[in-house]
Amino acid sequence: MAQTSKYDLLIIGGGINGAGIARDAAGRGLSVLLVEMNDLASHTSSASTKLIHGGLRYLEHMEFRLVRESLIERERILKIAPHIVWPMRFVLPHDKGLRPKWLLRLGLFFYDNLGGRKLLPATKTVNLREGPHAQTLEDRLVSGFEYSDCWVEDARLVVLNCMDAKERGADIRTHTQCTALSRKNGHWSATLNSDAGEETVSAKTVINAAGPWVDEVLGKAKEGTHKDHVRLVQGSHLIFPKLFDHDEAYIFQNRDNRIIFAVPYEHEYTLVGTTDVLWKEDPAKVAISDAEKQYICDAVNEYLRVDVTPDQAVWDYSGVRPLYDDHKSDNSTVTRDYVFDLDEEQGARVLSIFGGKITTFRKLAEHALEKLELGGEGWTADKPLPGGDFDPMQFDQLVGEFQRQYGWMDERMLRRLLRAYGTRVHKLLDGVTSVSGFGEHLGGDLYARELEYLCEHEFVREADDALWRRSKLGLHLDKDAHAKVAAWFANQESTR
Ligand code: FAD
Repeated sequence: MAQTSKYDLLIIGGGINGAGIARDAAGRGLSVLLVEMNDLASHTSSASTKLIHGGLRYLEHMEFRLVRESLIERERILKIAPHIVWPMRFVLPHDKGLRPKWLLRLGLFFYDNLGGRKLLPATKTVNLREGPHAQTLEDRLVSGFEYSDCWVEDARLVVLNCMDAKERGADIRTHTQCTALSRKNGHWSATLNSDAGEETVSAKTVINAAGPWVDEVLGKAKEGTHKDHVRLVQGSHLIFPKLFDHDEAYIFQNRDNRIIFAVPYEHEYTLVGTTDVLWKEDPAKVAISDAEKQYICDAVNEYLRVDVTPDQAVWDYSGVRPLYDDHKSDNSTVTRDYVFDLDEEQGARVLSIFGGKITTFRKLAEHALEKLELGGEGWTADKPLPGGDFDPMQFDQLVGEFQRQYGWMDERMLRRLLRAYGTRVHKLLDGVTSVSGFGEHLGGDLYARELEYLCEHEFVREADDALWRRSKLGLHLDKDAHAKVAAWFANQESTR
């Protein structure tokens, strides 16, 4: 009879929370297995607004702990992943009849000072009738504030955590679903399903980081118990061809008290969102509704000179926030903070995670491992993620260094690769001395070499993993290129 593999920790879910915990735990010397039923970051963690931020809006809801922790994490994450995280300035127009100027200024004063800001520039007032904002914003908007936050490639943050976890000894398995959990003599016995068939593994502790499926997984572990901890709140985004031509983002105040971001995206686009709508169906089926599309367009039309309609959007995406349900607040005010549920029956422990933000994943992982007292110290605060070992304020210098070494490469392509892979570009370009060394040209600046790298190092199995999660090349490539990428993967599959 085959022997059952044994782990200290079984992590269910390859979103940002599972990935962050896998990395931290592997670095503490624990034996870790992470299972993800689809691709890494295939659900909420690739569907965010992609901000590493304190959450200015949460100050209004008195979530000072969350905002402070997020602001402290903001610069830490910028430092450990400076290729996929970068500073961004946000313009908040003052609009008569909405929040008064003094209140915006006070909120931004706290925002600047709550979380030990060192690298990012402070808030300043802006005259919106001058410079690029005058051409972009409606005439009634005359002044506002400009403040700092950061942008993150959310799905890549998940993958980098899993790569690092693997390099520190963790077993990371995608397309592997945990279908059953049972307690046996102070351990867990877990049934896993994948292409390879069914397998049983044993683990001392289970981390339930299943995001929108957290209650479902908890139901497997605690058969028959009441499950209504999570509130699923849908959020959607629309992507338009550039709506303005500068690199600052906007934060618009809506009449319903919510806010909407309009952010420069992938050089040629503007990303606009998000919404807060209760979701009661299967989380895997979440999709933007016509009402959400109109709501997003209305916000743009209220603030920008250009008018947009839903059919002008080139792409959209939706995700489901797995929030901790206090059964009181409404969808936009229910806490975004994370909450742990630890069940220790019969000595086999399961820690379930509710809520949280991309921004707080590292601290959440540290807190989870502290709570479980599995030994080892927190170590992730200043250890770069794969490819992130350079100064966050020196990206252009990094490009210069690589240009000197790989002078034959097109600068635009080199910049794209450095933004995605950071210093791991050396690995991707190992042994390549000219464009012909990249192998088959698939479209735009995508060549077979990059796909090989993604399959070998970044857990990629299918075209969508590469085009929509490890990158957003899906937005830039034409139909022919999409077909070529699909054919490349089909060919790999047939030769496997
Ligand atoms: P997920 O990413 O959903 O991961 C859970 C994973 O578990 C899934 O991939 C799923 O396939 C897997 N799984 C489930 N069941 C099983 C099983 N039985 N076996 C194996 N695998 C399983 N945060 C920010 O910091 N900044 C933002 O700008 C921001 N914007 C947001 C905008 C929107 C619209 C939304 C929805 C969220 C936003 N967030 C933001 C919050 C953030 O995206 C989420 O808190 C975070 O991604 C949740 O990660 P997770 O790991 O808990 O869940």
